[in-house]
Amino acid sequence: MNCPPSARLSVDTHTRLAHLGRSPADHAGLVNVPVYRGSTILANSLEEWDSRKSVSNPMASYGRFGSPLSRALEDSICELEGGFRSILFPSGLSACTHTLVGLLKAGDHLLISDSVYGPTRHFADQVLARMQIEVEYFSPTDLSDFEHRLKDNTRVVFVEAPGSMTFEMQDVPAIAAYAHRTGALVVMDNTWATPLYFKAIDHGVDISIHAATKYIIGHSDALLGVATANERAWPALQASAHAFGETAGPDDIFLALRGLRTLGVRMQRHWATGIALAQSLLQHEDVLDVLHPGLPGDPGHSLWQRDFTGASGLFAFVLRPMSKAQLSVLFRSFKLFGIGLSWGGFESLALLADPMPVRTATRCMNQGHLIRIHAGLESADDLIADMHQALAAARAAGVPSHEQAQAALPVS
Ligand SMILES: *Cc1c(COP(=O)(O)O)cnc(C)c1O
Repeated sequence: MNCPPSARLSVDTHTRLAHLGRSPADHAGLVNVPVYRGSTILANSLEEWDSRKSVSNPMASYGRFGSPLSRALEDSICELEGGFRSILFPSGLSACTHTLVGLLKAGDHLLISDSVYGPTRHFADQVLARMQIEVEYFSPTDLSDFEHRLKDNTRVVFVEAPGSMTFEMQDVPAIAAYAHRTGALVVMDNTWATPLYFKAIDHGVDISIHAATKYIIGHSDALLGVATANERAWPALQASAHAFGETAGPDDIFLALRGLRTLGVRMQRHWATGIALAQSLLQHEDVLDVLHPGLPGDPGHSLWQRDFTGASGLFAFVLRPMSKAQLSVLFRSFKLFGIGLSWGGFESLALLADPMPVRTATRCMNQGHLIRIHAGLESADDLIADMHQALAAARAAGVPSHEQAQAALPVS
């Protein structure tokens, strides 16, 4: 079902999140769409069976093509994204990889933002390159670099704004305008902003992808991906997902629909807490830089202000060079920040990252240690206090000798 634009704009987001994708009358009055388990779907007659297999209704013939539960989530995301149709995948990465494979063939050129999520890059370099697809990266912050690398055979441009490690913004509408001129499709990993804070399709993106694992599920207890296409890109996306037999588990889909109900209030708090934490770090003498497009003064702030309506709780800061022992003390001193991958859950996280060595189109990064932070739903004051006591403990662990500091530097 297409989503009418009027329905997207006329109702407040929080109200829509409370009511999207629900139909109690179809489910014995239950407030939520229950978990549907099933592979075989029986028909009452040969005529009904034939109609179920028809092109106009392909999802009614077998569990792999969906259930009332998966359709409820897909239709909900589609409406929030303002797309033509959405489809679920078992993980965010799966949504990225199957979208790319579905759009590309041997001899095509693929342009990817140099700041892209690492596993997406790995897939392009390891799998797509083997299929004779030419993979190239562009500088996320230099539009002329992007334009320069566009070719007649560029079939797909893959963007992610901001990059989920280094937080460079991209001028998505401008990139899309250039890409469409050569007939390329624009795919965006839109996980950071969620469907609430960046309307990718309205800004020229053809397929918008979310790792629902992050904010949509929101509780670090399941994995799921979703891709939403405009009308032009939908047939290729659907064909790829069906050809590969992609399905998602019903319990995970249920958790995503449940998470969606509170996405609006959670995001407001992640956003506010992230900004408060980022601002407190900006003041700290051991912090060289804070990477957060929602901060005034960030190089991406004006693009963020122009195109986005909010920020998530994920950002990074650059810590001045410290010894390994001091970094170890820093991370051991956190009482509220967990050390771990993923983000978007209710709990705060910290991660020491070094994304620069794999990059090919951009090289500049402050000398120091990149620490990615996910601001969870704890009190901002408690998180700030925890961060600052851990930084103080790291500092107290010793002023490093010059040699130690050099040895601890990431390769640049
Ligand atoms: C986590 C993540 C993914 C992948 O999602 P999974 O569900 O973990 O496979 C994709 N893109 C971004 C930006 C992510 O942070």
